[in-house]
Amino acid sequence: MDVDLLVIGAGSGGLAASKRAAKHGAKVAIIEGDRVGGTCVIRGCVPKKLLVYGSEYRELLAEAASFGWSVPHPSCDPAVLFNNVRQEVMRLNGIHRTSLENHGVELVEGWGRFLDAHTVQVGERQITAKQMVIAVGGRPQRLAIPGGELGWVSDDLFEQKQLPGAITIVGAGYIACEFACILQGLGVQVTQVIRGDRILKGFDRELALAVQEGMQELGVSLRFGLQPTAISTTATGMDLVCGDTCIHGDVVLQATGRLAWLEGLGLEQAGIQHEPHRIPVDAMHRTNVPHIYAVGDVTDRVNLTPVAIDEGRALADALFAGLQREVNHDLVATAVFTQPELASVGLGEEEAVQRYGADRVRVHRARFRNLRQSLPKSGPRCLLKLVVDQANDRVLGCHMVGSHAGEIIQMGAIAVGMGATKADFDRTMALHPSISEEFVTMG
Ligand code: NDP
Repeated sequence: MDVDLLVIGAGSGGLAASKRAAKHGAKVAIIEGDRVGGTCVIRGCVPKKLLVYGSEYRELLAEAASFGWSVPHPSCDPAVLFNNVRQEVMRLNGIHRTSLENHGVELVEGWGRFLDAHTVQVGERQITAKQMVIAVGGRPQRLAIPGGELGWVSDDLFEQKQLPGAITIVGAGYIACEFACILQGLGVQVTQVIRGDRILKGFDRELALAVQEGMQELGVSLRFGLQPTAISTTATGMDLVCGDTCIHGDVVLQATGRLAWLEGLGLEQAGIQHEPHRIPVDAMHRTNVPHIYAVGDVTDRVNLTPVAIDEGRALADALFAGLQREVNHDLVATAVFTQPELASVGLGEEEAVQRYGADRVRVHRARFRNLRQSLPKSGPRCLLKLVVDQANDRVLGCHMVGSHAGEIIQMGAIAVGMGATKADFDRTMALHPSISEEFVTMG
């Protein structure tokens, strides 16, 4: 066999598995047909968050006058922002390549295809391996409607040199909401088309509503109850047709979910059972073929970067250091980088009521305007919320909408993970003046 471990896909999960395995002394190769770094680094979390920072300046500059600053006629050149973001992505791509080299992991460039359960073909080369990890991630899903091939998905957005004047965004999940805020902040007129009656369906309804109000204040036009039926190009841009309603803009952005793309991997040749867009694995990330594993979005468990990294590391530790550890897929903190930001760990109110019954669930909340907003007298209000199990006072969920929600909930996740009770929160002295002090002072 050429290597001990062959990893297909150099994204968050694959990089973590390969480097950790090499650190344990394994001979490792990793296959990648695109730039090294995967969705998170190349066309996801990292460039997206940089664009969030860029777009937030609009509000900061608007508020500056109330703090005595004179910033006459500020304007943003998106070409500069997008170019700088792309350069940063290239820099990170280089860092990841160097890091593989430093770990002694061989990078094989090209697309991998199984020939049998121990052999993968990449270009002209055939690589044999004792064990393998599939970490190919996912890609944006386009709508299966006439004209579904038109317009952008999130990958396309990062490649733009100029921004449109008006955009129609389809979807109400993470990507649709984040990009609606980014683009609105950068001066694009955003219409967001939502098939249901709310945004961010997987989250606590009250939190989602707080984000919704903030987005509307920002100027995003939210259109509910519209199911797209066609997309077409026109002389002046692009139409999104939803039954009897037609929404015109310069371009349509489809943000309607991401799916694993398994075509071309040759999974059948290796005897790997799979669903159309998912490879099922057990708690130790093993497919039905005992020496072939899968981690990250391709397994469609919790599709977030830190989870994929932990899965990759846990797998490598188990295979090459004899350390068996199950990844904790519960209580994963998550943030939506909208403006205002939402972050959450544990059960939302509806989920808790569904699991334990309304009688057993107690909700504490604080809604207020951040001190920072008191001079500009504008900006979204914060919402902090604790969902508590009455039976034992344990905090089941800790949630927030407002500035730095992600940073704050990361810390809240430690307390919730340790089984903190509402009394533990109350016993903690407040840090004043701060937003998060409300978590330990709310009645
Ligand atoms: P989501 O699954 O979060 O949202 C998909 C949205 O598309 C939903 O609002 C859904 O509507 C809508 N939708 C799906 N099919 C259709 C259709 N046929 N017609 C109209 N609307 C449709 O996917 P995203 O693309 O936003 O993000 C993909 C994943 O990427 C996330 O689940 C997350 O795991 C990850 N991600 C994480 C981020 C973070 O951590 N901050 C940021 C970005 C992505 P409905 O609500 O009615 O189901």
